[in-house]
Amino acid sequence: MAKKLIAANWKENPGSAKDAVRLFKAVAAVQNPRADVLICAPFLFLEPLADTYRRLRPAGRKSRLALGAEDVFWEEKGAFTGGIGPKMLASFGVRHMLIGHSERRKWFRETDAMVNRKAKQVLQDGFTAILCVGEPRTVRKKGSRAAEAFVRAQLEKDLKGVPKGKLIVAYEPIWAIGSGEGARPEDAATMARCIKRALARKFGKVKVLYGGSVDGKTARNYVTLKDIDGALVGGASLKADEFKKIINSI
Ligand code: PEP
Repeated sequence: MAKKLIAANWKENPGSAKDAVRLFKAVAAVQNPRADVLICAPFLFLEPLADTYRRLRPAGRKSRLALGAEDVFWEEKGAFTGGIGPKMLASFGVRHMLIGHSERRKWFRETDAMVNRKAKQVLQDGFTAILCVGEPRTVRKKGSRAAEAFVRAQLEKDLKGVPKGKLIVAYEPIWAIGSGEGARPEDAATMARCIKRALARKFGKVKVLYGGSVDGKTARNYVTLKDIDGALVGGASLKADEFKKIINSI
């Protein structure tokens, strides 16, 4: 079986660099050869985490743990106050960048056009974009066909004109994020197949993660499915024991 990817999205957590390092060390200690682990942390913590990682990792050993960013700006540098571009992130060893998370779309008013610019820049620079897509509850209530049409439209807009590159998609139904109510695993797998079909011609085989209230108990229901290549985990990634259970569910 191909390796699965377990990605953490720490969001605006934890409250200090000290706590971030402590959590990172606990996660770094988990070993599961069937899983790749990615920690997407706030920009501010990437430097102390990268330092911690360098000290933890025996030189030369290819690692199964990587650091990722929760967002990225599309310009490399210039008069863009607060902006952090892909190459700045890469200087901390970051090669995976989340784009289009529903919380960015909601709280920071990110549009598909903005997500598209981010996708273009990340892929053009040779990094891995983890594009988050997913339908709101009103759409899911109309059924699977409506949800699939919504997600396909999002993919089309977010990936319009992007160069072929390293792309992962995280299917995260908005209503499932942080709600304790995950999608039905069969619905998540159906959506993963739909996403793969939609992207196959341009991108070849694309990994699709599921995200939305995954925890130590439910992870197995998703990540053991053939069509689901891993999980994107928010809340449960902040509790080392819970996150360990998710990594070990593969
Ligand atoms: C997320 O924010 O990407 C997420 C999946 O959150 P949670 O696991 O808390 O639902």
